[in-house]
Amino acid sequence: MKLVMILILILSVLGFFGWFFCYQKSLTKQGQRKKDLRYYESVPTRYMIDMNPVSLEEIQKKDPSFEVSYFLFVIFCMFRHIQQAWSNNQSELIQHMIGDSLKEPYQKALKSFIAQGQRNMIYDITPVESRLISFSYDATREEAVVLLTVICYDYLVAVSSQRVIAGSTEHKMMITYLLTVERKLPIKKEEGILCDHCGQMILTPHTIRCPYCNNELVPNIDWILTGKEILASREVE
Ligand SMILES: [Zn+2]
Repeated sequence: MKLVMILILILSVLGFFGWFFCYQKSLTKQGQRKKDLRYYESVPTRYMIDMNPVSLEEIQKKDPSFEVSYFLFVIFCMFRHIQQAWSNNQSELIQHMIGDSLKEPYQKALKSFIAQGQRNMIYDITPVESRLISFSYDATREEAVVLLTVICYDYLVAVSSQRVIAGSTEHKMMITYLLTVERKLPIKKEEGILCDHCGQMILTPHTIRCPYCNNELVPNIDWILTGKEILASREVE
């Protein structure tokens, strides 16, 4: 009789924990499911100073150089640099553009590409849409989360035979990324941008195209990538 009681007790304890863990698991799953592409497409931009919600104007009082559309352009340029370096297996170049948490996985993946004689070809990267999800400022750094959609070629190829291992050389991909970026403060004073087409020095801030020759200017990038997640990806054209 005693034995049966103990057995029932053990079973009910196990049952409770089983239920408890399943419940916890379903909670995290729901929590994650909320933050899909649709969530990021509609959520209002959050601005924070020292973790407290503020307005964009208050951010600009702290950082007068901050302007949303130019910032998004700079982040796209940063992203394109990284993708190009990745595509060229330029591990060293990438190290300067990414945060510590990404360094190991990036290096590992590139090493494996090189060892297997492969290249992840990514080119013709054009922006489709970008959206600022959050921007936070504190005493030492700025951090932002950006939703970026691009169209580009993206496939894996064997270098020697040019055989395509994965992806397509005929169809471009439309990919939506959730990017986390940061930069250390204080910000270096912007000295202007040299147009690499006509050689003029452009001193007006937030200029995307050269006013003399209409060439797209390469911005000074002091942001690094600290997080990258693919939220959606499909073939186009
Ligand atoms: Zn120019």
